Amino acid sequence: MKLKVSLRIVSVQLNSQIGQIDETLRRTTVLIDRLKQEVEGQKPPDLVVFPEFALTGYNFKNRSHILPYVCKAGEGPSFELAKRVSKLFGCYTVIGYPEKCEQKLYNSAIVTGPDGSVHFNYRKAFLYETDEQWGCEENPKGFQQFKMKFRARPIDQDSAELSPVDIDLNTSIGICMDLSPYRFEAPFQDMEFSSFNLEKGTELIICPMAWLHSRSITEHTDSEKITPKDIECLLSEQGLSIFGSQGQYQFDFDNRATTKPVSQDITDINRDNPVYSNLDEPDMSNINYWLLRFLPFLSLDVRRNWFQSFADQLLPLKNSYMGMTPKHPWGFAGKNAALVIANRCGVEDCKTIFAGSSGIFKFNGSEDKDNNTDSTNQSVKLFGNLGKGYEGLLMRDIDLMIDR
Ligand code: GLN
Repeated sequence: MKLKVSLRIVSVQLNSQIGQIDETLRRTTVLIDRLKQEVEGQKPPDLVVFPEFALTGYNFKNRSHILPYVCKAGEGPSFELAKRVSKLFGCYTVIGYPEKCEQKLYNSAIVTGPDGSVHFNYRKAFLYETDEQWGCEENPKGFQQFKMKFRARPIDQDSAELSPVDIDLNTSIGICMDLSPYRFEAPFQDMEFSSFNLEKGTELIICPMAWLHSRSITEHTDSEKITPKDIECLLSEQGLSIFGSQGQYQFDFDNRATTKPVSQDITDINRDNPVYSNLDEPDMSNINYWLLRFLPFLSLDVRRNWFQSFADQLLPLKNSYMGMTPKHPWGFAGKNAALVIANRCGVEDCKTIFAGSSGIFKFNGSEDKDNNTDSTNQSVKLFGNLGKGYEGLLMRDIDLMIDR
């Protein structure tokens, strides 16, 4: 049977800084009050997603640096915030926070259910070098799928909508580096996280992120190219503090305002343009990269050829490869899945620039003849994105057609 699930989703973008929990909470309260005002007398959100380490800041240097901020799952300010938001709207809330369990530390995301209680706790499986600095452990369970309950309308043979029923959506969480190749060492085409989701039939993919802008200074940056001083100058030229922008909000509640897809060829040409400006616009090159990491969910005509030539060699080894499954050229054909990205923004240590560009996407499972591996692929719809540099809220209504 086909069912239509109509979800109202909110992605929250924040610029949290280490040592500023109270200030970040204050700005978060402004955002939530604004959301409450917006949905007054209307349908409240079904799901609110906050970024990775949403309240604490991200660049912790070592274990003792992070210890004052860690909490048990279901305790502390991040959980309290999630609980408050869930109870206020009767929705699911997801928020990233540093977790301590016995003596072990994790980069986690807690999920609170519509009544404010703990629904799930996910620990990041693939760690970024910054997580390793403070002794973060990998999720011993690896990627995980869990259920979230929503209302759905069964669709009968005449396409009429019947009265609503409860449905459990197959949901997963990917925290930032979970989307990248394991330790940046695994083959790019293994697409571990998206392949996991394709194989498990995930219908709702939730990504709290602290994803870096491509001009950040990392261990791998050539120091001739960009220095902390350059970043400081760049920020002050735009009238921004060394943290980037805080408290200048971008609210996008307009369901008709979709993001215009931009081909990666064009964003490649523009790569050397101003480093970190037009903060109210999303970073399309970054969005294209995220979508590339979901290649198994994108329609590609060439898969038919791959399927024929690779079938014998590759498919017995894996459950899926680049979206091919042992039986089908494209394992996602005809299905639907939503992707929600809540990324942070701002700058830490005059070094790490976060990419913002939080967004709400739908993979629609329809065929595209063009083989585009970016936002221009017809099988993905970009419902909307926030800009790269401002805190704010993005809200969209999205319909998923689900088979049960
Ligand atoms: N791959 C991510 C990036 O480059 C990792 C960051 C993270 O895990 N927070 O931004």
